[in-house]
Amino acid sequence: MFIMPNNLGRQYSLNAAEYEQKAVEVLRSGWYILGNEVKSFEQEWAEYVGAKYCVGLASGLDALKISFELLGIGEGDEVIVCGNAYIACVMGITVKGATPVFVEPDQYDNIDADQIEAHITPNTKAILAVHLYGQACDMTKIMAIAKKYGLRVVEDCAQSHGNHWQGKTVGTFGDIGCFSFYPSKGCGAFGDAGCIVTDNEELAQKFRIFRNYGSEKRYHNQMIGSNSRLDELQAGLLRVKLKHLDDFNEERCRIADRYLNEIKNPAVRLPQIRPGADSTWHQFVIHCDHRDALQKYLEANEIGTLIHYPIPPHLSEAYAYLGKKPGDYPVTERYAAEVLSLPMYNGMTKEEQDRVIDCINRFRPEGE
Ligand SMILES: *Cc1c(COP(=O)(O)O)cnc(C)c1O
Repeated sequence: MFIMPNNLGRQYSLNAAEYEQKAVEVLRSGWYILGNEVKSFEQEWAEYVGAKYCVGLASGLDALKISFELLGIGEGDEVIVCGNAYIACVMGITVKGATPVFVEPDQYDNIDADQIEAHITPNTKAILAVHLYGQACDMTKIMAIAKKYGLRVVEDCAQSHGNHWQGKTVGTFGDIGCFSFYPSKGCGAFGDAGCIVTDNEELAQKFRIFRNYGSEKRYHNQMIGSNSRLDELQAGLLRVKLKHLDDFNEERCRIADRYLNEIKNPAVRLPQIRPGADSTWHQFVIHCDHRDALQKYLEANEIGTLIHYPIPPHLSEAYAYLGKKPGDYPVTERYAAEVLSLPMYNGMTKEEQDRVIDCINRFRPEGE
């Protein structure tokens, strides 16, 4: 049987009756936008991450876009971001005209905080700390740099639901923590959804107004906002998911532990965890000089993998206008050619894990 890189149906089947009961409850309620489910989920998510406020939004990209807009960061401004980030991170920066300034990742696949200062200019307004693959950035260094230069910090926690830097949950270090609840994310919805968290009451209120056409009171529009509401159905289902999130994260950690202990192949570099960080293993990303051959070999053995991400944002067509060329960010580009995400999902059986491990251990790059 083919092992998929991710298998959302498996996770669903673990608690299917609870989701179905909630869905029916919301459908029968007759209330579908901005009601009690959204309000309750916002309270529960804020509590879960340890923030004062949470505002539900339509997606993770919206969370980023609206963050920069409400922080007043746009044309002429620069935002620091890791070069190997997901394209949505960069789109969040550029949609209002700000310029992304790429910094290379370190061996933990996240931004190399020691290189940030060298990229700061008088136009730098913020750092977007992307906690990639389920692992926290070095928030101690990032917050110290932000303080020194008076920069805003936005955290992209889309891939890091409930993991920590030095015991504190990600999303609570910077001005704003952005979350996506895209189905494959840790606490995934059953459609598109997202949110922000913040301790700043005024800012939280601005998000609440912005997401609803800039109005707090119906038909009284204080600003040009957007329609970026989290809906009742998704919020209700997310409340069910959240109850299981710690268990899901623990299960992924157990799978990751097996991979870390039992994958033994000199052609494969296993992921490393930065001292002070933990991982929720949104992805289990290995590096391999023969990545494409390894992927093909696994595919032939009925094991599916994904590449996060094959084209770094600075080389994507959408960002041709930045004028970057191959070779500008050698570490980022090398990672794009090396990384491979192994199957990792809740409900993955021991036999499936065995097969992934055995198969990788038997891989021999040609000519070696
Ligand atoms: C998924 C993701 C996003 C975008 O979230 P959507 O809800 O799909 O808009 C942003 N940043 C990162 C790091 C992501 O993984």
